[in-house]
Amino acid sequence: MRLTPFEIHTPSSLAEAAALMERLGDDAVLYAGGTELLLVMKLGFAEYDHLIDIKGIAELHRLEVEAGELVIGGCVTHREIERSPAVQGGWPQIAAMIRGVANVRVRNAGTLGGNLAFADPHSDPATFLLAADARVDVWGPAGVRSVPMAGFVLGPYATAVREGEVILAVRVPPLPAGAAMAHRKISFHERPAVTVTCMVRRDNGAVTDARIAVGSVGLAPARLAEAERALAGGAPAERVEALAREECAPTEDANGAEDYKRHLVGVLVRRTADEALLRAGAA
Ligand SMILES: Cc1cc2nc3c(=O)[nH]c(=O)nc-3n(C[C@H](O)[C@H](O)[C@H](O)COP(=O)(O)OP(=O)(O)OC[C@H]3O[C@@H](n4cnc5c(N)ncnc54)[C@H](O)[C@@H]3O)c2cc1C
Repeated sequence: MRLTPFEIHTPSSLAEAAALMERLGDDAVLYAGGTELLLVMKLGFAEYDHLIDIKGIAELHRLEVEAGELVIGGCVTHREIERSPAVQGGWPQIAAMIRGVANVRVRNAGTLGGNLAFADPHSDPATFLLAADARVDVWGPAGVRSVPMAGFVLGPYATAVREGEVILAVRVPPLPAGAAMAHRKISFHERPAVTVTCMVRRDNGAVTDARIAVGSVGLAPARLAEAERALAGGAPAERVEALAREECAPTEDANGAEDYKRHLVGVLVRRTADEALLRAGAA
């Protein structure tokens, strides 16, 4: 494992970063925490002569509530998210999910923007943010596009971010009244093998809305519409679990065969649904 020499550029504005991307083209790549990028470069999977370090761009470090939504800038680290009083107070479920990402060394340097942009198929935030109905603000020289999480991850290592664009921020809406979320994962190696996030909303005891996102088992995180309908319609837990098992789309890899992953998805859907229902009941 050896890095080939490269030059680091340190733009202090998005316009400066865009000019560098334009000028350096395919020889350059954006660089935030480097926890993914330097690893793939060390392994020889990618080689760049220029790294554009975007951490000096102030707009990418926002972590605040705006018009009721949580805004997390592209260069905010996992550690900053989990320790933020705004996140702990208004979105404690995000703090809990992020606390389970990697280890403290990776969370200290790694950013939310880097996690989403890299689009490793084994991602906690990608699954969570899909169930949370979050959107990603993507900056480009022509302006800012708002991309729903449902259309953000296009497949392994592929996202809606186009050449010359930067993830500006992630916007997470508040949970509706009577709603709660739960996120769980199973990991055999460093990265998660299965990630499931469930959101349920109760009104006078009855479940009125449900979102279930499953990730890390296949090509991209996905919502499970049939299982969601069953959960929102008050179906028994066994039925929701069975539908989730059928509906998910796992692929075989080092974490296991398709059937095995289906089983794990069913178990985690049941557990996250139970947990979210309990929390929503107590809300
Ligand atoms: C040992 C280990 C364990 C891990 N475990 C987990 C886990 O349990 N769960 C989980 O979800 N993840 C896990 N990860 C992934 C981790 O979350 C990511 O490595 C981290 O968030 C990446 O952020 P970064 O800032 O270091 O990205 P970088 O390495 O700097 O960049 C990654 C890619 O994103 C691009 N990029 C970065 N920022 C932007 C931006 N703002 N706009 C556009 N493109 C951008 C870069 O060009 C590069 O291609 C693990 C990683 C490691 C190394």
